Amino acid sequence: MEKRVHLPVAPPDESRRSSIASDGRRRFVYTADVKGRFHRLRRVVFALLIAIWIALPLVKIGGRPLVLLDIERRQFFLFGATFNAQDAYLAFFLVTAVGFALALTTSLWGRVFCGFACPQTVFLDGVFRPIERLVEGPREKRMRRDQGPWTGEKVARKVTKHVLYFFAAFVIAHIVLSFFVPLPQTLAMIAGKPGDHPEAFAWAASITLVLYGNFAWFREQVCVVVCPYGRLQAVLVDKDSLVIGYDEKRGEPRGKAKDAGRGACVDCNRCVTVCPTGIDIRNGLQLDCIGCTACIDACDEIMDKLEQPRGLIRYDSMRAFEGGARKILRPRLYVYAVLGLIGAIVATVVISRHTSFEANLLRAPGAPFVVEDGRVRNSFTLHLVNKEDERATFELSAEGVDLAANPRVEVAPLDDARVTVVVSTPIEQKSSRWKLRVKKVPEGEEKIVDATLVRPK
Ligand code: SF4
Ligand code: SF4
Repeated sequence: MEKRVHLPVAPPDESRRSSIASDGRRRFVYTADVKGRFHRLRRVVFALLIAIWIALPLVKIGGRPLVLLDIERRQFFLFGATFNAQDAYLAFFLVTAVGFALALTTSLWGRVFCGFACPQTVFLDGVFRPIERLVEGPREKRMRRDQGPWTGEKVARKVTKHVLYFFAAFVIAHIVLSFFVPLPQTLAMIAGKPGDHPEAFAWAASITLVLYGNFAWFREQVCVVVCPYGRLQAVLVDKDSLVIGYDEKRGEPRGKAKDAGRGACVDCNRCVTVCPTGIDIRNGLQLDCIGCTACIDACDEIMDKLEQPRGLIRYDSMRAFEGGARKILRPRLYVYAVLGLIGAIVATVVISRHTSFEANLLRAPGAPFVVEDGRVRNSFTLHLVNKEDERATFELSAEGVDLAANPRVEVAPLDDARVTVVVSTPIEQKSSRWKLRVKKVPEGEEKIVDATLVRPK
């Protein structure tokens, strides 16, 4: 088992600190409690986001879930619209729009998403750390207990904490699952025996274990080591981005409160002990900083006690920390905004033109044409996909050829059908192009499919 290295309350000898020691070992971070305006704001945002995430698969629009990605049936319900696997290309435009919106947000406000809205932060700081604090007490007690011998009380607290962690992971896993499996099914599976639905049980158990392992043990390492967005910070943030930083000009030379000639920093180390990634913000902007604002609240609390102005650690740009003036509008912002806007416009146009069914014409196997009674006959297979969860009726009509097919086709909800379409023209007719009009009745939504007739040379 990995040996935990406890972060001391006093500053360590190394000038740089983080949750990974210089030899690559994990330093287990014991985060201290913090109070303050950003802490309160984050609590409200976390509560709202958790409520929204729980509500998304529960709420219905027009009888359909607000968000449901039913991968098994290849049906995707998003804000009242239904999509299927053939609409997967739409995801490209949506991801482009969201990706550049995130790049724009990061260039403007740094890691505000990480600190306030990332599910990893929301559940870790909003659910699991409060459980830990409730069961095991504040940082110093937790550290002392972990370093001390195993006692009955220590075992009881550890078991209680991990049971609660596991229960929280189990609930979150089922919230995640309800985005992929319709809610009545999810609830029935929870109530039923695992053997009745082994696949779903395996998924729920795996997600629960991964979440439990993540929130109980791996924690900030997701942000520091795994998350690709975290790694992108180095290129998305520049000197004019709003970041959380330490005002070195005002704070240095740091020293104890009694020291003469010191700067505003009293070297109390509070900003370090509250940091969930175990870094010292006074060492400058670091990739490990997830923008959680805990060090701002911690330092403001100290400044209030010393009756000094707040903001020794604050939101500001690196340029402003160096004494310059922050430039808000920069070329990279225009580039991200334009690219994001293009993605959003294309996604909007494509989604607004998205139809509730698909119609594709394929040449039927066998002879490409038959000549009979002075007419050339071709056979096609019409593949109709009904993306709606209601039975649909389609009317077929042809332009440029005579159609010999049942003009009405019914397709079951969320199903598809293949119908043979036979068309013919007089042998002397020269044009080979023809069109099949597929009209949904009674709504009137229609698609026109172009095709070519094969005829003798
Ligand atoms: S340096 Fe400050 S804002 Fe960054 S992760 Fe640590 S406590 Fe949060
Ligand atoms: S909390 Fe403020 S005063 Fe205390 S060490 Fe950090 S920067 Fe200095």
